[in-house]
Amino acid sequence: MEVSVTLLHLNSRASGEFRVVSQETGRATDEGQTLSCVHCQRTWVVKPGSGRARGWCMKCNGPTCGGQACQTCVPFERQLAIIERRDALRRYAQQYLTDAP
Ligand SMILES: [Zn+2]
Ligand SMILES: [Zn+2]
Repeated sequence: MEVSVTLLHLNSRASGEFRVVSQETGRATDEGQTLSCVHCQRTWVVKPGSGRARGWCMKCNGPTCGGQACQTCVPFERQLAIIERRDALRRYAQQYLTDAP
């Protein structure tokens, strides 16, 4: 199925929303909220109750992926991060769709 992924908006530097639209029907097939790690910019889809442990950096005041390397505060350069996040989010959303059952 041909789909296009639209980023609705980036709410803040750490969260955003995306919508996946079928190009055949023009209808949304999936949508969700994402969070990004403030340190490595890894992006994931928020699934309530998934039980996945994520961290929070008090210095950056934002979520972290919980990875070993991200336990230490290493903030991204801000301007770069915005560009990187947009790309990462698009890539992630496409992969997420491909992996979906
Ligand atoms: Zn991280
Ligand atoms: Zn930090």
